Amino acid sequence: MNKFEVTILGSGSALPTLKKRPTSQLVQYSNKYFLIDCGEGTQVQVRKAKVSFLKISHIFISHLHGDHYFGLIGLMSSMHLLGRVADLHVYGPKELNEIIHLQLRASYTQLRYNLVFHELVGKDSQKIYEDKNLEIHTIPLKHKILTNGFLIQEKPRPRKAKPEKLKFYEVPHYKIDGIKRGDDFETPSGEIIPNDTFTFPPEKERSYAFCSDTAYSDKIVPLIENSSLLYHEATFLEKENALAKKTYHSTAVQAGLIANKAKVKGLLIGHFSARYKEEDTTTFLSEARTEFENVEIAEEGKTYSVK
Ligand SMILES: [Zn+2]
Ligand SMILES: [Zn+2]
Repeated sequence: MNKFEVTILGSGSALPTLKKRPTSQLVQYSNKYFLIDCGEGTQVQVRKAKVSFLKISHIFISHLHGDHYFGLIGLMSSMHLLGRVADLHVYGPKELNEIIHLQLRASYTQLRYNLVFHELVGKDSQKIYEDKNLEIHTIPLKHKILTNGFLIQEKPRPRKAKPEKLKFYEVPHYKIDGIKRGDDFETPSGEIIPNDTFTFPPEKERSYAFCSDTAYSDKIVPLIENSSLLYHEATFLEKENALAKKTYHSTAVQAGLIANKAKVKGLLIGHFSARYKEEDTTTFLSEARTEFENVEIAEEGKTYSVK
C-alpha cells in the first residue's frame, strides 16, 4: 500500500507563539509531497521534518488570512535560491497571484522555475488535481473571506486477482484488466464464472480532509463523508461559542459534531486561539469527545498516517 501521511508543521491560529506556529501541513502520498497552507515560518518547519523543499510540487492555500500564507513567499524564494527548476503549482484565491508577483517585482526577482498558478473560487466543490492514484477536491468553507478546505482522496482501486484461479480457468491475458475491474468470465463452453472466483475486493480507498478556517457548516458534511482522517479547526472552547460564530470559526464541540455527522474514522483538531493555555488542551479534547470519540490534538512535528 502506498504511504499516505500528514505531518503537522503548524497548528496554531492567528498569533504565532513560542509553542505554536501558524497553519501548515505536509501531506505525503507515495513519493509526492503536497503542502497545505504555508503560515509564517513554514520553511523552517519543513526543514525540521527533513523534507527537501524541492520535493514539494503542489501548494494549496486555503485563504488569505496571514496565518495561512505569510510563509509562502519565503519558501518560494528559498526554492529559487536552491536552484529549483521543476514547475511549482500554487492553488489559491486570485489575489494570491497578484501578491506573489508584486513581491517578486519589488525585489527584481526572476524565479528560476515556472510558477503555475491555479485560481480557486469558492462556491462549489471542484476537482483541482488528479494523477494516477489521487484526486484533490476543494471543500468550500464558511469564513469571513473566500476559503477552501481540501479533500485528498485515493481513486478506487482495482480488485486483487487470485493468480491460481486465473490459471485454473485459463483466463486469457487480455481479459485480466477487465476482471480486475469486476467483469465476470465466460468460459469457451459458455459457462459464466462470477468475478469473486478470481478476485478479492480492493482495499478501501483512503482520504484526508482538511477544514480550516470555518464556522460550523452542515454543507461540509456530504463533501467529507466517510473520510479516513479529518482535520477540523477548533479555535474556541464552548464558553466562547458566541465569539466563534461572530468570527466565523468553530468550537471543539462543533468540530466533533462535523466528524460525527460525516462518519469519518478519525479527527484531528487544532488552530486553538492563542488566548488559551497549554492546560486547556485537555478541555478541547474532552469537549470534542462529547460528539466524536476518536479525536486527537494536531501536534506540531507529529506525523499521522491516513488509514
Ligand atoms: Zn487561521
Ligand atoms: Zn482565517
